[in-house]
Amino acid sequence: MGLLTGKFAVITGAASPRGLGKATAKLFVEHGATVAILDLDAAAAEAAAADLGPEHVGMACNVIDKPAVQAVMDALVAKWGRVDILVNNAGITQPLKIMEIGPENYEAVTDVSLRGTLYCSQALIPQFRAQKSGSIVNLSSVSAQRGGGIFGGPHYSAAKAGVLGLSKAMARELAPDNVRVNAICPGFIATDITAGKLTPQMREQVLAGIPMGRAGEASDVAGCALFLASDLSAYCTGTEVDVNGGSLIH
Ligand code: NAD
Repeated sequence: MGLLTGKFAVITGAASPRGLGKATAKLFVEHGATVAILDLDAAAAEAAAADLGPEHVGMACNVIDKPAVQAVMDALVAKWGRVDILVNNAGITQPLKIMEIGPENYEAVTDVSLRGTLYCSQALIPQFRAQKSGSIVNLSSVSAQRGGGIFGGPHYSAAKAGVLGLSKAMARELAPDNVRVNAICPGFIATDITAGKLTPQMREQVLAGIPMGRAGEASDVAGCALFLASDLSAYCTGTEVDVNGGSLIH
């Protein structure tokens, strides 16, 4: 029996083929979950879900569009009768310096990670409370803990630090209803989030700061998400789990 047999999981930003969301969805399915993949593009989300098997769902959902988020979550609750797990994974980054951050950069980067995490959580919290169970897993970053130093600019660090604060405050408020909220802080993971903007020089510099001497794999983060989503972590809430090859040992 899998760790998530009979569980229903929603994962945002999970259509990216080499991304953390897709790897997490795949591992959840291997452990028995039924998964909904949400992403900006309906066709991409549907294709990613179809990859996992016919019982899984792919839907368009822009996580910063509150009515759209609510409609998608309501549709999933109607279809499944419950939701057990929410992984707030959608996120974007930009390698800007402090003085280069314009209003549109600030809005784009903080909105997807922080507003998106808030709206998707709010849309499912009444259901989690009614069930008296639920696990929310939020994607923060080592950039939040170290003030960047990998790829994203200060606005990305701020967004991901915001995600940590939001996670802990939600964890505190939802704990009496047996709804757990935890954050993952990945380090440098090989995905397409850098959109071709990571130079070989930047890569070398980042790798030099990783005691394990390698970039992480998407599956490394998925393993942590599985732990936090499953009952193995039944007494963990408000935690931030580092998945970074030792980048933050201090
Ligand atoms: P990715 O770019 O491969 O995937 C991100 C996905 O989010 C994409 O499919 C994109 O379409 C989707 N998305 C963007 N805006 C959206 C929106 N408004 N609504 C819905 N979906 C949206 O990125 P990834 O590397 O898999 O990153 C996943 C998460 O992990 C992000 O939150 C990222 O900040 C975080 N993270 C990644 C790393 C890393 O090194 N890759 C490190 C730390 C944290």
